Amino acid sequence: MPALDVAGEFETIERLFKPLAHPEWGRGLADDVAALPSRPGYDLVLTKDAIVEGVHFLPDDPLDTVARKLLRVNLSDLAAKGAEAFGYLLACFWSERCGWPEREAFASGLAEDQARFGVHLLGGDTVRTPGPLSFSLTALGWAATGKTVSRAGAQVGDLVFVTGVIGDGLLGLKAAQEQLALAPERMEALISHYRMPTPRTDFADIVREFATASVDVSDGLAADLAHIAQASRVGVALNLNVLPLSAAAQAWFDDRVDPQLSLEDLASGGDDYEITFTAHPRHEDALRREAERRLVRLTRIGEVTAGQGLTVLYDGQPVPMARNGWTHG
Ligand code: ADP
Ligand code: MG
Repeated sequence: MPALDVAGEFETIERLFKPLAHPEWGRGLADDVAALPSRPGYDLVLTKDAIVEGVHFLPDDPLDTVARKLLRVNLSDLAAKGAEAFGYLLACFWSERCGWPEREAFASGLAEDQARFGVHLLGGDTVRTPGPLSFSLTALGWAATGKTVSRAGAQVGDLVFVTGVIGDGLLGLKAAQEQLALAPERMEALISHYRMPTPRTDFADIVREFATASVDVSDGLAADLAHIAQASRVGVALNLNVLPLSAAAQAWFDDRVDPQLSLEDLASGGDDYEITFTAHPRHEDALRREAERRLVRLTRIGEVTAGQGLTVLYDGQPVPMARNGWTHG
C-alpha cells in the first residue's frame, strides 16, 4: 500500500476511477473528454450537486456512504423529473486527510451504486485542496423529447402525492449527531437513511406518465411544495394530519407533547429524497396500482387550489410555518 502522501491524482484516476468508466462513452477516462451519440427522440437531462465536509456531510461520515449519497441525491433529482439516469461526471477536491484508504472507500461506494442504479462514470476532475474535502457530481439522464416534468405544470383541482415517508432525513441528521434518544435499531434506521437515502428511480416512469408537476424532497416537503405552487402560479394545500411517517419517526412522534409542532418540524426538515408531485384526480387509481406494483408507499397529502402559494393545514385549520425561510398563503 503506497504511503498516504503519494495518493497522486493520476494514480487515483487510473486505479480507482478507470474501472468505473462508462464502457462505451467514457473512453477509459484517458481521452480528456467523453463523447456520446445524441439519442433521437430523447432530451438529455442534467443536474449537479456539490457537497462540502462540515456543511453537507459530517467529518466522521464514512466516505463510501458520502459517495453513494452524492450520487443518489442527483439520481433523485433526475427521477423526480421523469428522467432515467445513465452516467455522471465527478469532481473530487481531496483534502489533506485523504490518502488511499479514504479514496478507495469513496470509489468502492461509487462502484456499488453504479451496479445498483445502472449508471457509469463519464469523466471529471481530481484535485487537492487545502480547504475542506468536497465533491461535485453532474448526473445525466434521458427523457423522451419534451417529457421532462417541471415544477410549473400543476393545475387547480390536481391532487398532491408523496412517495415513501417524510421526516427521516431530519431525524436521521439528529440521530447521526446524537441528538435523539430512541431504541438502537430506530437510531440505526434513521442514520442509515441520512447517510444513504434511496432515490425513487423506480418511480421515474410513473412521474413522467402522470405528474403535472414534480420535485424531489430535498429542501423539506413544505418548501418543495411551495416551489411547485410558485412555479405553477397556483395554491397548494398540504394536510399535515396524513404525513406518512416511518416506524422510527412514528416512535419519535409518539413521545412528543405537541403533535402539530412535531409534524411541522418533519414537513420542513430536508434530505428526504422522496418525490412529491401533482396529478389529475382521474389518475389516482392508476397511480395507486403502479405504486403497489413497485412496493412504493404513496400518500395523497393535499390538493392544488386556486390562489397563490402553500397553505399548511392541521385538523383542517391553516397553521403558520413561522420557522421556515419560505412563506405561505
Ligand atoms: P486535465 O489535465 O484535462 O484536467 P485530467 O488529468 O484531470 O485532465 O483528467 C484526465 C482524464 O481523467 C479525463 O478523461 C477526465 O475526465 C478523467 N478524470 C479526472 N478526474 C476524474 C474523476 N474524479 N472522475 C472521473 N474521471 C476523472
Ligand atoms: Mg484535471
